[in-house]
Amino acid sequence: MKKIVVSGLLAVALVACNQQKEESKTSEASQEAVAPAKELAVNNPVIKDKFTADPAAYVFNDTVYLYAGHDQAPNDFNFYKMDEWLVYSSTNMVDWTEHPVPLKPTDFAWAKGDAWAAQVIERNGKFYWYVTVEHDDTHPGKAIGVAVADSPVGPFKDALGKAIVTNDMTTQTGISWDDIDPSVIIDDDGQAYLFWGNTVCKYAKLKENMIELDGPIHTIDVPQFTEAPWIHKKGDWYYLSYASEFPEKIKYAMSKSVTGPWEYKGILNELAGNSNTNHQAIIEYKGKDYFIYHTGAINPNGGCFRRSVCIDKLEYNEDGTMKRVIMTSEGIQK
Ligand code: CA
Repeated sequence: MKKIVVSGLLAVALVACNQQKEESKTSEASQEAVAPAKELAVNNPVIKDKFTADPAAYVFNDTVYLYAGHDQAPNDFNFYKMDEWLVYSSTNMVDWTEHPVPLKPTDFAWAKGDAWAAQVIERNGKFYWYVTVEHDDTHPGKAIGVAVADSPVGPFKDALGKAIVTNDMTTQTGISWDDIDPSVIIDDDGQAYLFWGNTVCKYAKLKENMIELDGPIHTIDVPQFTEAPWIHKKGDWYYLSYASEFPEKIKYAMSKSVTGPWEYKGILNELAGNSNTNHQAIIEYKGKDYFIYHTGAINPNGGCFRRSVCIDKLEYNEDGTMKRVIMTSEGIQK
């Protein structure tokens, strides 16, 4: 008599403010199935033992380096507590190795705290890390600092001895947090640009030394810009993605030039589970494209201030536009 085959069951449901997982169940019988359903590992979030937020990623020497803020808010604490950044590396986008804490806001003598969003880039063998921190009372408000290291995992140190952007350098809004979320790119001609902003998106050239602005600060008018700009290039197109509205969706615009004009293309990623913020990094690695973001979806205490970095695939259409990201629990598979 033919055996009844019980195939594995994987049920994963994402709900607005919670993530419920049912671990897959396997049986010996499933080994004999003619066409067993493929069991996928639950790989999101990619870091499970710490809360991680505001991801940035950088590919160097065939390795991906993932940089994130450490969400350290206790379970009953409903605001950001972020006293350090974290760095991980991977060569398959699934297995991540944590390295020693590479940088803290207190490594900047002029900063009070708040390890908010940041991004790393390499130039001439040195790694520059642009970070958001709270400035001391000499320039009240959020500010952008730049740290430097000889290795992508640090240790990093303050490269300038002062902020590269302070709140008083931009006055388009009256808020104290409109100079946050730096993103950086080196264009094909070698000119580097720093993008950043909350409420108003801004950019400026960077000098060859990567630690000073070179010329005026410009603004970019894209629809419903909230924060978290990420600048990247793929083929002939430049992409400016950003968090929009609140709670945040990721939207994007495209241009043939890093300085615009920018053509709005719509939503790239919907609301992330159980988190009113969303924050993206976009990379290509070993011929595939990835969308790296955070959600509040770790049980039982995840949330807006206890976020977790996730990774899903990113796909481009033939005309260069990006397909909307499908957030999954399975994430990237080996
Ligand atoms: Ca300002």
